[in-house]
Amino acid sequence: MRRQPLLQHYAEYIDLPEHTRVVSLLEGGTPLVPMPRLAAELGGGFELYIKYEGLNPTGSFKDRGMTAAVGESLGRGARSVICASTGNTAASAAAYAARAGMRAVVLIPAGKVASGKLAATAAYGAQVLQIEGSFDKALELVVAISKKHPIALVNSLNPHRLQGQKTAAFEIVDQLGGAPDWLCLPVGNAGNISAYWMGFQDYGQGLPKLLGVQAAGAAPLVAGHPIEQPETLATAIRIGKPARGEQAMAAAEESGGRIIAASDDQIVAMRQRIAAEGLWVEPASAAGLAGLAQQIAAGTLDPSGLRIVAVCTGHGLKDPGSEPQTVVEASTLLADFNALEAAILGEQT
Ligand SMILES: *Cc1c(COP(=O)(O)O)cnc(C)c1O
Repeated sequence: MRRQPLLQHYAEYIDLPEHTRVVSLLEGGTPLVPMPRLAAELGGGFELYIKYEGLNPTGSFKDRGMTAAVGESLGRGARSVICASTGNTAASAAAYAARAGMRAVVLIPAGKVASGKLAATAAYGAQVLQIEGSFDKALELVVAISKKHPIALVNSLNPHRLQGQKTAAFEIVDQLGGAPDWLCLPVGNAGNISAYWMGFQDYGQGLPKLLGVQAAGAAPLVAGHPIEQPETLATAIRIGKPARGEQAMAAAEESGGRIIAASDDQIVAMRQRIAAEGLWVEPASAAGLAGLAQQIAAGTLDPSGLRIVAVCTGHGLKDPGSEPQTVVEASTLLADFNALEAAILGEQT
């Protein structure tokens, strides 16, 4: 098992400035979990794996990029970091800033950040500020602040983030013994899909086709124009003007893949199917697989004989409030043996 900080482990492939310091929580090294039952449900005849990024230190893949971005900013003498966030970037920035002894300021869209993300961000000691406005507006504001003040911007506009995030592609190649045929993943601000494409290219052991999946109510790359009021239950990808949209479109096209949209219903249904095979992920994380299922059903992607990897970007604990009530309602019983026995046997019939 790897016991080294992520960026040291893959040092020969990582391009960061000399002054970058090590700020690590031993991120990365996440499992690639085979999903044979889900593959069979989707028609069978292919291998399906989930890269379970919810097992990073703060529960999302953002940690891979944050170790690089915070380490670089610390090395060049910054004392504070800032980001706009739909939640996971905030939690990750807050944790890595805490690790580095730096201050973190996060700007979020009011009422649109999942409870687990907000709680973590506050626990790590970040200053949390909310605006009545979208993620896109928050990003505009923090970019402007970081230009005027010596506060390091750690959104994925920061190129160092992508250097860290591309390591997930290296791990998949190492775990599979080569690149998969398809890589499916959610697309929000489009940094991650760009980082994966860079990673597979830098590692030089084959390239997958990319299936990037946006939520239908927040799908600017499918619509071909910004979405002013993006709406989706998958709050991590509730983004109407992706900062790396062009790069992502180019990556998908070069790979021979595409960027598509999945409805919230498809995303929620897929989240439940994944959980039914033992992995609980936050809604956005299920978008990649929801898109894959949709394409297979429509006959526009034939998986026969292929190896397909879906990236599940964040843990289910991040956003328990998004579960349908039917899932979380527990039946209340008398504290009584017979009542318990009847409830259990009743379920069986
Ligand atoms: C950030 C995030 C995404 C989207 O990644 P981008 O790089 O913004 O495209 C997807 N899922 C989760 C859980 C995230 O935190």
